[in-house]
Amino acid sequence: MQQAAEFQVRDGQLIGVRQIPSPNFNQRPVQTEIQLLVIHNISLPPSQFGGGYIEQFFQNQLDWSVHPYFQTIEGMQVSTHLLILRTGEVLQFVNFNDRAWHAGRSTYLGKKECNDYSIGIELEGSDDLPFATAQYEALVKVTACLQDYYPKIQQHIAGHSDIAPGRKTDPGPYFNWADFRTQLQHYKNTSNSLAG
Ligand SMILES: [Zn+2]
Repeated sequence: MQQAAEFQVRDGQLIGVRQIPSPNFNQRPVQTEIQLLVIHNISLPPSQFGGGYIEQFFQNQLDWSVHPYFQTIEGMQVSTHLLILRTGEVLQFVNFNDRAWHAGRSTYLGKKECNDYSIGIELEGSDDLPFATAQYEALVKVTACLQDYYPKIQQHIAGHSDIAPGRKTDPGPYFNWADFRTQLQHYKNTSNSLAG
């Protein structure tokens, strides 16, 4: 399927986005197909945006003394494949072929260890504030691109709270799933008709 793509996957990288390598990854189990997209939110400090702290956190370069909240996450080594900032800018921290550390203890459709077989997308946001329109727009384009390249995720998108219920609440009540799915379908229909 040919798409008038803004984004493109090549060698596990999303071409057209800024690459900020995180050391927090390892190999996926042998012959593991990517089959799930997991959507998260994160903000550092919580519900504050900008400042570059998320990027520093995923690179193990966050100065824990800058904010009291940072001391509660001191030493944590986590990552994501993609982060979508409030502006809609997309950053990549881990190659899709590698296993990012975003889901933690988790289960999807009875299958444990979602990090093994998923791609993680963090939205800069929180459980108590709406996401930016630019973030939905970027998420729609990125999701369409990834679904084209990794067909299994066409049917499998989950929130962190879905795969780690009781432990995680993100992307939270302000993430508008219905709107996201409508926009995604509309974008894919439009892209397909453009490509003939
Ligand atoms: Zn999460």
